[in-house]
Amino acid sequence: MTLQGQVAVVTGASQGIGLAIARELAAAGAAVRAVDIQPEKLVEAVRDIRAAGGRAEAHAADVSRGDQAEEVVRAVLAAEGRIDALVNNAGITRDGLLMRMKEEDWDAVLAVNLKGVFNFSRAVVRAMLGRRSGRIVNIASVVGMMGNAGQSNYAASKAGVIGFSKSLARETASRGVTVNCIAPGYIATAMTDGLPEDVKKTFLELIPMKRFGAPEDVARAVLFLLSDAASYITGQVIGVNGGMYM
Ligand code: NAP
Repeated sequence: MTLQGQVAVVTGASQGIGLAIARELAAAGAAVRAVDIQPEKLVEAVRDIRAAGGRAEAHAADVSRGDQAEEVVRAVLAAEGRIDALVNNAGITRDGLLMRMKEEDWDAVLAVNLKGVFNFSRAVVRAMLGRRSGRIVNIASVVGMMGNAGQSNYAASKAGVIGFSKSLARETASRGVTVNCIAPGYIATAMTDGLPEDVKKTFLELIPMKRFGAPEDVARAVLFLLSDAASYITGQVIGVNGGMYM
């Protein structure tokens, strides 16, 4: 699957699933515009992609800030003249039972996970519609479909991403722009590394394939959705979860 000559914006690209996506797209020939909140980590990620022979540029930005999203998109369009793909991957967790959840933990998760998707999608969509071509892939979560005790803020944000994506898909389908979600299950990254061993064990019991996913499992599904092979797919949620949710 080739993305030769294409320009792809990936958020949360410094580590974990986002870095795996950025690497995968660059290896397929895309010019990757990597977005993340911490400049130092991001520059290192971009260096890594270039060392492997890929094209990548760093854009430090906070996805929850609409003005910063607009600025990144303006800069990419000025430099490249086009954006073929947007992968909204940046996400955070602030777990806790609802009874004890602080309002700031609710707000922070919704601001990054849901408003961040709105900010970047709105910033790119006009240019995509103008060219009658574009792909948006939003990284949701199995938790947005199943729910998970202790993650009401995260689940709400990810269910929101799914509803947002289906609505935007309906708005843009006739003009060649597809919008889809990937809903990963349990993927071994910094986000999940810190979970207590008993929680990890409980998750493992829920996964028919009896193993956690790797960031590359998600990255390959993103590449598929951005490729020509997926041109008739829009408004869908693809689970990458080892069968955890069917
Ligand atoms: P991760 O390792 O924590 O990476 C997320 C990246 O996003 C980090 O580099 C983080 O930077 C960055 N980020 C956080 N807030 C940001 C902001 N406001 N603006 C720009 N960048 C920001 O997480 P991951 O496991 O790779 O997860 C990636 C995506 O997959 C998330 O949307 C997550 O919800 C989703 N997902 C993950 C799993 C899983 O099992 N890992 C399962 C389902 C869905 P800092 O480190 O500096 O905060």
